[in-house]
Amino acid sequence: MKYVDEFRDGEVARGLASAIAREVQPGRRYHFMEFCGGHTHAMARYGVTDLLPETVRMIHGPGCPVCVLPIGRIDLGIQLALEQKVILATYADTLRVPAGGGLSLMKAKARGGDIRMVYSSADALELARKNPGRQVVFLAIGFETTTPPTALAIKVARAEGLANFSVLCNHVLTPSAITHILESPEVRKYGTVPLDGFVGPSHVSTVIGSRPFEHFAREYRKPVVIAGFEPLDVMQAVRQLVRQVNEGRAEVENEFSRAVTRDGNRKAQALVSEVFELRRSFEWRGLGEVPYSALQIRAAFAEHDAERRYGLTYKPVPDHKACECGAILRGVKRPQDCKLFATVCTPENPMGSCMVSSEGACAAHYSYGRFRDSEAKVHLAVQTA
Ligand code: SF4
Repeated sequence: MKYVDEFRDGEVARGLASAIAREVQPGRRYHFMEFCGGHTHAMARYGVTDLLPETVRMIHGPGCPVCVLPIGRIDLGIQLALEQKVILATYADTLRVPAGGGLSLMKAKARGGDIRMVYSSADALELARKNPGRQVVFLAIGFETTTPPTALAIKVARAEGLANFSVLCNHVLTPSAITHILESPEVRKYGTVPLDGFVGPSHVSTVIGSRPFEHFAREYRKPVVIAGFEPLDVMQAVRQLVRQVNEGRAEVENEFSRAVTRDGNRKAQALVSEVFELRRSFEWRGLGEVPYSALQIRAAFAEHDAERRYGLTYKPVPDHKACECGAILRGVKRPQDCKLFATVCTPENPMGSCMVSSEGACAAHYSYGRFRDSEAKVHLAVQTA
């Protein structure tokens, strides 16, 4: 636990906060998007936002895997469990995401669907080994961090001849989502989402490296600082972003050098490209259809592709009318702008995906009281020295 203690040190946090306050320029405002739900969670949990100067505004991005999964994809999982009678295996958070027709995977389980929570793709493989007479489908979600383990599971299934194992692939790509945000009308034309830079994802970057973010610095003149998920990581990243903006620089800097390199994990990248290929288009909750933003299983592994095996056809389903998840995931609104926030919609009764996972902006704000400005209720959990 040595690292966790070091990166949550209260005295160092206050020192960093003072340094940032000294560096922000009078009369200038700074708008930074933290792409990852992990950063959103860390900022809410440790009160990082309260330590930053008022002129530094953090905007939540779409980097929460559960939040961006559209209803129609969960409906496909429900269809497999209830109609095809497969064992559907997926991560815990996915079970509670509201789906179509008032259902969720959890509710589908209550209706008799054999839906099981797993911690990893390896657990799903094990289910297939233990249930040779049943079809097992792994509903795979996530960004580049969780893609290599899914690829490995497919390769192992092939090697072991596990014909009863397949994957419903929903893996999505970070750089495509950032491009989509930078090209969105809100950022490009209307100026409703001013963006001066990004706190870049850490776990994703351990796989893909920092190189893919250089495009955003070069072409869009947006600085990116890749940061870890501890509060001091995020604060250091904000300091580096402020400095870049002040100096008129737009570069990729790597605060998370303890795990991220420029080229990333080449072995994992090779594994992913052996098993997966780009999808022409994929619907993201909040962002809509985003071209070349997700992966599908290559034809060479078709026997382990649930979409091919069961002839699944994707149908888009609109979100709950009052849910503002879409606008929140695009950085246009904040959780407290939603009428349902903390009234009808709570983590126990989520109306939208952003309230389900702890990485979701609504859940993070709800859980750590960031919305109760009037009460000045600050959950500053940063450890005191
Ligand atoms: S509070 Fe609930 S309904 Fe409102 S945007 Fe968040 S998840 Fe959607």
